Amino acid sequence: LPPDLYGPARKNSRGVELGCRDMLASTLKDIAAGRREVTAASIVDGAVRTGTARTMASPIDGGVIGKVIEADAATADAAIATARKGFAAWDQTPATQRAAILEKAADLLEARMESFLALLQDEAGKTMDDGISEVREAVDFLRYYAGEARRLCGAGETLPGPTGESNVLRLRGRGVFVAISPWNFPLAIFLGQVSAALAAGNTVVAKPAEQTPLVAFEAVKLLHEAGIPGSVLQFVTGDGAIGARLVEAPKVAGVVFTGSTEVARIINRTLAGKDGPIVPLIAETGGINAMIVDATALPEQVSDDVVTSAFRSAGQRCSALRLLFVQEDVADKMIEMIVGAADALRLGDPRDASVHVGPVIDAEAKGKLDAYTKKLSASARVHYAGAAPATGTYVAPHVFELNRAEDLQEEVFGPVLHVVRFKAGGIDGVLDAIDGTGYGLTLGVHTRIDGLVEKVTERLSVGNVYVNRNIIGAVVGVQPFGGHGLSGTGPKAGGPHYLLRFASEQTVTINT
Ligand code: GLU
Repeated sequence: LPPDLYGPARKNSRGVELGCRDMLASTLKDIAAGRREVTAASIVDGAVRTGTARTMASPIDGGVIGKVIEADAATADAAIATARKGFAAWDQTPATQRAAILEKAADLLEARMESFLALLQDEAGKTMDDGISEVREAVDFLRYYAGEARRLCGAGETLPGPTGESNVLRLRGRGVFVAISPWNFPLAIFLGQVSAALAAGNTVVAKPAEQTPLVAFEAVKLLHEAGIPGSVLQFVTGDGAIGARLVEAPKVAGVVFTGSTEVARIINRTLAGKDGPIVPLIAETGGINAMIVDATALPEQVSDDVVTSAFRSAGQRCSALRLLFVQEDVADKMIEMIVGAADALRLGDPRDASVHVGPVIDAEAKGKLDAYTKKLSASARVHYAGAAPATGTYVAPHVFELNRAEDLQEEVFGPVLHVVRFKAGGIDGVLDAIDGTGYGLTLGVHTRIDGLVEKVTERLSVGNVYVNRNIIGAVVGVQPFGGHGLSGTGPKAGGPHYLLRFASEQTVTINT
């Protein structure tokens, strides 16, 4: 957190005395007002590429916040070729040195937290709380993977063997990693993927989501400034077609992707169809995440955690709650409290420190969500439909009740909660329904019955289970994050096994 977030009141640039929270909001507004327009472009071998620029508009109000120059095929190919050339030297750079550069980047990011925060707000519509958590998470990823490189990628581990023989197992980089990141965490997931791949000794070609290239561009410049060589980290802007070109390129050693299940499948198919080596995919995709609330749960805690899980970040987290199972006996009361808590949320300009829910990412996302809530309003029971501001890409929180969980067949990536009642003794049916979604990312359980937690965790293959709390905001090194089945290939970002997925293992046996 910025050091003064909990400090005393101060005067802002206009001489108005403000509490520390509003003070930060005021500082961010000053930064945004004074910012020179950012023009993001691909960076290959340390040089920023030129081309025709497209204007970037903020989801908050449609105002122009910068420009982006999309990569062409030649730029994508040059990025791959450069990363290939840069690999040997980076792989041979001692892990301690790679780690020190990532730690320097973490220091720089912390020092510039406010300007990254302001850009996250403008480009991705992040509220102040979401923005602070995101910069914090990005810093944590840099430090965590640096520590993991020190722990895992040193001289190697000497293994037991017969007399007269030495056996050493060590980790090395795999080669060129293509990193494709999403718009919902344009700084934290972008830097998480890139820093894990770099820490393990790979060179990287990173493509940010087309909706959020500006903050990623600034992050790449920061990494280069910290000491990552130009030949080691390449940045390629563009849409899915450019992403596909990177994945299809020969001699790519690995792909790390966060985004939709559909795109993960396409990448997987592409990799499987390529000639040459078999290329691993690390994918973190979506979820139809559930929470189970039984009659022993504490209603105040439930309503708070449900609203946080379903509506914070406007529901645009893959960890967000989509499907709430409530025991029939307490359902009316729980729903009433959830609706009350949802109605207390402030929706609006996320640069205002008191706002809880900002806009969704763009007009296309809003259009899809509005069409969905309109359609569902005709067939499901509507418990709550909030009012959205008339301008900007805002979608108000909605609470629907479905007769059966199976009625929800898709991940609805926004502030839309679906409630289903279950009967006392009907928990097996609930677990079958959750299992039947095919996803396995996050799961919440609100109960005071120990046996239920055991049963749920044994029965369901879910990456992150949260008991008696909300289900979002996994902390690096504390709640390693990632899911199974339709939710991804399983590696846990921010966990002690993650770096291994980016490395190749080599055993050297010497007859001494
Ligand atoms: N790690 C985030 C969380 O725990 C979600 C990441 C995502 O949405 O991709 O909320």
